[in-house]
Amino acid sequence: MQGLQELGNIVNSGAEEVGLFRTEFLYMNRTQAPDEDEQYGIYREAVAGLDGRPLVIRTMDIGGDKPVPYLQQPHEANPNLGWRGLRFCLANTEVFHTQLRAILRASAHGPVRVMFPMVSTVDEVVAARREVDTVQAQLKQAGLDFDPKTQVGIMVEVPAAAETADALAAQVDFFSIGTNDLTQYVMAADRGNPKVADLIDPFQPAVLRTIQRTIRAAKKAGIWVGMCGAMAGDPMAAPILLGLGLDEFSMNAAQVPEFKLSFSQLSADACARFSEEAVALDSAGQVRDRTAAFLAEQAAVTNGKH
Ligand code: PEP
Ligand code: MG
Repeated sequence: MQGLQELGNIVNSGAEEVGLFRTEFLYMNRTQAPDEDEQYGIYREAVAGLDGRPLVIRTMDIGGDKPVPYLQQPHEANPNLGWRGLRFCLANTEVFHTQLRAILRASAHGPVRVMFPMVSTVDEVVAARREVDTVQAQLKQAGLDFDPKTQVGIMVEVPAAAETADALAAQVDFFSIGTNDLTQYVMAADRGNPKVADLIDPFQPAVLRTIQRTIRAAKKAGIWVGMCGAMAGDPMAAPILLGLGLDEFSMNAAQVPEFKLSFSQLSADACARFSEEAVALDSAGQVRDRTAAFLAEQAAVTNGKH
């Protein structure tokens, strides 16, 4: 989600939680950053509207494809490889603390999870968690309520994070795989450039293997792993992702009903066998062809049961 106007559709869609609140949209198209109370009001209203469903709030992923001029971001030759997401927040602790205070105060009203975008190193996560501790101590001292057990997780959307997922998993409560950026960075292909659209495909074997590695590391460490990139809402991707052991699929509200229906027709065991085969293929085209055949086989099995 990007704003409160989506709450009604989310609840009506049958979604069990919100896996990604893109908070940078609260900072865009205005002349100064929203203050703590404004943000707190929005997060609290979102939590209340979700009626007990968890809300994963991503700290602002400004920079890259989402510039916010008044935050003094310099011109960069390669903004997607630049000072964005968590990198920017760790260098601007005042803006970061304001947001963390608002998020944590909202955690007093229902299940809230904090998620950091654009993580590349363990050091960044250790530093970010330290800021969370600092803000929690400030809130405590001010007598403001928050849930001290608020889960803290990261997006895995940079190849460095996937490569060191075992070490990162020891630092956090969950992963959420951001396939939009992960695909761009694994394939070295700009997600906004139509000339390289064939490479911006999460079915590329290199991306699938990176996803597999990330999920395995999460499972080994005993943390949950979701996906909030667009791939998660693609019914064609469901058998592979379910088979690899993905725990949570985050998508647009409009995609939820169809996704739930197609998901209910899949056998977890068959998907597990199929996913091993799929990630070993040589091209995105082969993966799609084999997946289409697998889905047809599954549908035949399901129909045969009726
Ligand atoms: C992603 O990169 O997959 C993601 C979910 O974040 P965004 O699309 O906002 O970069
Ligand atoms: Mg991203």
